[in-house]
Parts: sequence; structure tokens; C-alpha cells
Amino acid sequence: MESSELAGTVTQSMAKEDASIDPYFHLILNDDLAENNWPKVLDEYKKQPKHSLMAQTMSKALFDKLKNVQSSSGWTIARAINTGVCYPDSFVGCHAGDLDSYKVFKDLFYPVIEKYHVGYKLDGSMKHVTSMDPEHIKVDLTDEAKSIIVSTRIRCARNLAMFPLNTSGSLKTRMEISDSMEAIFKEMSSSDEYKDLGGTFFRHTTMTKEEEQKLIDDHFLFKGKDKMQAASGYHRFWPHGRGIFCSNDKKFLLWINEGDHLRIISMEQSGDIKGVLRRLHRGAVAIEHYLKKKYDVKDVFMSDPILGMITCCPSNLGTGLRASVHCRVPKLIKKIGFQKIDELARSMKCQARGTMGEHSEVTDTVDVSNWRRLGFPEHELVQDMIKCINKFAEMECSMED
Ligand code: ADP
Ligand code: MG
Repeated sequence: MESSELAGTVTQSMAKEDASIDPYFHLILNDDLAENNWPKVLDEYKKQPKHSLMAQTMSKALFDKLKNVQSSSGWTIARAINTGVCYPDSFVGCHAGDLDSYKVFKDLFYPVIEKYHVGYKLDGSMKHVTSMDPEHIKVDLTDEAKSIIVSTRIRCARNLAMFPLNTSGSLKTRMEISDSMEAIFKEMSSSDEYKDLGGTFFRHTTMTKEEEQKLIDDHFLFKGKDKMQAASGYHRFWPHGRGIFCSNDKKFLLWINEGDHLRIISMEQSGDIKGVLRRLHRGAVAIEHYLKKKYDVKDVFMSDPILGMITCCPSNLGTGLRASVHCRVPKLIKKIGFQKIDELARSMKCQARGTMGEHSEVTDTVDVSNWRRLGFPEHELVQDMIKCINKFAEMECSMED
């Protein structure tokens, strides 16, 4: 092995022999990648009609060009593409280990980013923009749309500039982040300015299995358990350093070290999209304020003028924003099916998911959210979602029972 990042890792062959290795949590490297060789399975995947954005971009020549390059924190091309090599169904299929990864492996990442964030160009002609002010939202929900909405959730992904991304992070960095955030929540909860966002921090290491499951079932908490995410290194050292902060009214939440260091979340059981965005904006400002105070640095969040907020997965770059509503569309699901609903959503720059999150099942309700996150201000991305729900509501309400 030529790279220190690959040394001592578990390989697919080793995992087959050892029942204690859990693909839902452990980082398991493809056998070829563990030897820093071109992964032969990619030749097969590339013959299929549909393959990940990584497989569309990666070639043996590109792999050979990048295989001995390392980012400033030691990220390698083998680690970057492991998810897409192990799981041909993954949509993006590659991850970064730090900000520098996006630069030193740009031959891979830039085409992937342009393919994902349709309309964004990385030739220097465009810049990341941000504006969370809900008053800039120009499109309203129709009455039909209001009648089908169950709940609204808007989140933004953030990573702390002082630490490596969790894909390349250690147990120590995860613990330092969760300890810092716990102290910040305490300070925030007892402040005059932000006490309405105050609440309690729950750690995975101290909550019971029942408490954890209840938070997952109520749509507040991440499940962890995901093979594709595990192959990026997200879940290493699980459950240490993981947790969730919940405000007393459970409308303002923070995920700690799920994949990205922070997912700042605002949600409620209503269709008040502007209100949910307003709370997220305020909460994000508060967290940044306390982080700056603690670390005494100007830019606490890892960011770049062109790529925006830096995240492990290229799909979350930019605003890191996913604004979603759960909407009840039983007739639409029955008539055209989930696949068609998702295709329609994609044609409107949105995405449909099951209501238990990514890759989850669909019954009578779908999760509709913005698709793009980079190059457009938050209020415009929220608008993409509103237009899509209005369309689905119109279709649902005009259908016979
Ligand atoms: P993320 O993009 O933040 O990773 P996921 O798709 O993994 O989100 O979903 C995380 C959790 O958030 C899931 O339990 C999901 O049910 C919940 N969720 C997402 N959108 C909504 C919404 N509009 N209302 C209620 N819960 C939601
Ligand atoms: Mg997710």
C-alpha cells in the first residue's frame, strides 16, 4: 500500500471472513482500492445504462493520474470513490475528506459537481451566493398545496473549519466537536437572546435504544445504519461523538456528526415554510456566533468562494440546504407511481423521497425537496420546492377517488 490513509483498513475480502464487521457501520474498502489499484468492477458498471456521477467521470487514466496524490489531510482517490465502487446504485458515488480534496482531485469532483448542481459552472464565471431571508420568497403555496402538507423541514449542512471532515476524521476529532457543541448549547440555552431555541443535548452513547428509536420514528434523528454512507467513512467509531440537540419545542434541532459535523434543522407540523426558514436562519446565525466566540476565528465554517459551504458529499455543497415538505398524495402515488413522481419532481429541479428519509419506502405521503444547492440563494431553492408542491397538489386535487 502506498498511502497511509489506506493502511490498516478492512477490505471486502476480510469482511467476508469476519462476521463482526458490519457493512452498515464499518468502513470496508474495495479490494482493488485497498491496494491502490484501478477498481476493475468500474469497467463493468460503466457498461450499464445508469451509473453514479463518479462512475460517469472516472476512468483508468484519471485514476492513474490521481492515485499517488494526497490532499493536505491525507485524503486519497481510493477513499474518495469507495462508495461508488462498492455500491453501483449510489447516485453521486464519491466523497471529500477535506476542502483541499476538492482542489487536488478536481478532475473528478468538478465534473461531478456540475452534473449534480445543474446550471452551475466551475469555470470561474459563477460564485456561491447565500440569502436566507424568507421575505425574498416570491411564490406562495396554493390553497390546494396547503391542504396536502403534513410537515415542513429545512436543514443546512455545516462543517467546522478547524477539523477534518468526518470521512477522514478520528474518534478524537468527533469527540472534540461534540464536546464543543454541548458547551455551546448550554451557553445558548441560558442566553437572553436565544433562550427560545434552547433545549437539551442527547448523546447516542447515553440514550437508550428506545429513546433513540422514538426520535428516529418521530423524524427528528438520523438512523446511522446506511451501507453507502458507511463506505465513505461517515459511521466510523459509531456511536461515539454522535448526538442531537433538540429545542424544548422540538422545532429547532442539530445533528452532531451524522456525516457532516453539523446539520442545522428547523421543522414543524405545518406548511409555514417562511416561518421554518426564518427559524433556521436565526438558529444558524446563533450557532455561528457561539462558534466564533469559542474558537476566535473569522470563518468557523469550512467554505470556499466558488464551492460555498464545504461538505463531505458534493451534492450538499453551496448552501447545504434541503428544504422539504411531507405531502399527502395518495391518489397521485396510486395513479402514476413513485418513480414518475420523482421524474416529475426532477423536471422541476426537485426530488421526491420516502418519508423516512433517503432510500426509504413510500406509502401515501412523499417528501418533496429542492435538488440544487449551489449557485442559487436559499430563498430561490425554497421557491423551487414550493412550485413543485403546487403542481403536485393541483394534480392530486383534480384526480377522481
Ligand atoms: P437529510 O437530507 O437531512 O439527510 P433525510 O432524507 O436523511 O434528510 O431525512 C432525515 C429525517 O428527516 C427523516 O427521518 C425524515 O423523515 C425527516 N424529514 C425530512 N423532511 C421532513 C419533513 N418535511 N417533515 C418531517 N420530517 C422530515
Ligand atoms: Mg441524509
